[in-house]
Amino acid sequence: MKITFLGTRGGFPMGGQTSCTRIEAACGSLVIDLGSTRLFENPAWIAAADHVLMTHFHPDHIAHLASLIIARLNMPGVEDPVSFVAPESVGDYLNDAKLGQVPGWRQEAGVPREWNGFSLHAVQTRHPRINYAYRISDGHVSLVWTGDCTYSMELAEFCSGADVVVCEASMKDCNQKNADEWGHMTPSTFARLMNEAQPRIAVTTHYTELEPADFANAVRSLLDATIQLVPAYDGFELEIPKAG
Ligand SMILES: [Zn+2]
Ligand SMILES: [Zn+2]
Repeated sequence: MKITFLGTRGGFPMGGQTSCTRIEAACGSLVIDLGSTRLFENPAWIAAADHVLMTHFHPDHIAHLASLIIARLNMPGVEDPVSFVAPESVGDYLNDAKLGQVPGWRQEAGVPREWNGFSLHAVQTRHPRINYAYRISDGHVSLVWTGDCTYSMELAEFCSGADVVVCEASMKDCNQKNADEWGHMTPSTFARLMNEAQPRIAVTTHYTELEPADFANAVRSLLDATIQLVPAYDGFELEIPKAG
């Protein structure tokens, strides 16, 4: 499985682009969130983006949802509608944007257990807007993508035993109270989640208050030595080998 991080900023795109990621495996590909224009830099990525998981409908995750649908409508050879899995209605969002008549998309009812060759599960996290953490497997590697969240025991259980957990890394430890109120992670809660879930690889993304290396440095001393810590950044590609 290969993960290409197109946007790794949260809240606002200072120093980069907001959330958008491609997942590729032998069985197919998925896109998670549509917060980055970088997806539009490669026509092959637009053409391949027919299965999209939305974590939630905050602007830093959904800003370019309509752009993807419209780009594909205008692309020769692209026939399939974009299929979405999302915790809220894509139709309501497009209606609110006065784009309710735009064709070229559909939304799955709920969260299918099998989707484009991947197995899929979702759980709701603690965040002011309904957010799904997704657990995805291609049959070789299992990955949890948290979206926006703060720590909860339910989330730690959901992540337990996954090979890779990609978790948001929004805030500083000194702003823990704010982080809890706004449903975000700090280095301390990130480390707690990972130490309880025990993935092989823990990945940071969705930076708001700290740069990737600074968030990772703050996590490192709190994290079990057996867990590999990987700070993602815009353009970063992570190839995950099958568990040995
Ligand atoms: Zn966000
Ligand atoms: Zn959010």
